[in-house]
Amino acid sequence: MLLAALGAATIAVPVADMVAPDNGLPGPTARHVDLGYPTPHEVLASPVHASTSLLPAVRGVRPTSESASRSLDRDPLPGCDGDARTTGSNGQIPASDLCSLWEPNHMLRGDAAVALAELNTNFRAVYGRDLCLTDSYRPLAVQRRLAQTKPTLAATPGRSNHGWGLAVDLCNTVTGNASAMEWLRANGPTYGWDNPPWARRGGSGPYEPWHWEYTPGTTAMGSNWS
Ligand SMILES: [Zn+2]
Repeated sequence: MLLAALGAATIAVPVADMVAPDNGLPGPTARHVDLGYPTPHEVLASPVHASTSLLPAVRGVRPTSESASRSLDRDPLPGCDGDARTTGSNGQIPASDLCSLWEPNHMLRGDAAVALAELNTNFRAVYGRDLCLTDSYRPLAVQRRLAQTKPTLAATPGRSNHGWGLAVDLCNTVTGNASAMEWLRANGPTYGWDNPPWARRGGSGPYEPWHWEYTPGTTAMGSNWS
């Protein structure tokens, strides 16, 4: 927009200067003629309306204040380097290889954690609160216990994506909020996070709208269960 206006103005000025007066009097200068276009000076002095936002183009994200914009520019997860370390086996990953999330006692693999924190930052900008989690990285012992208490829902111990630090379960305050779920389904994949097809209604596995996975990680691991 700015460049187009500048181009038009730049061309218009010399044309006006070339208009020859036929009465012998000094001709009008470009400065006094209404060119029908803004002069380069006017263009440069006028506020630029083009968006300079660095926000990713995420549906529903409308920062309402300067502070909201600044918060989106901050490090999404301070203290997490975002590395994908997979030194341990499923459910036996040392805490030093995981990153802590915004909720106490919740950890994920670095790349999945940073991506989820970015998604959460945008979720918070829209809904005014953090994504609520009931589960994230799940140690093998917890997975074994879950397999006994909820055999239809829990993956075979050693196969869960929770054990790789690549899955979270959302609170029912999130899954019970139709707007929030629609927002997450629309925007989660932008950050690599999705409710996998098997967990959706009519999917090949148990219906688990609360179970979300970091797709780049699970695809690379070739793992796909709750
Ligand atoms: Zn889960």
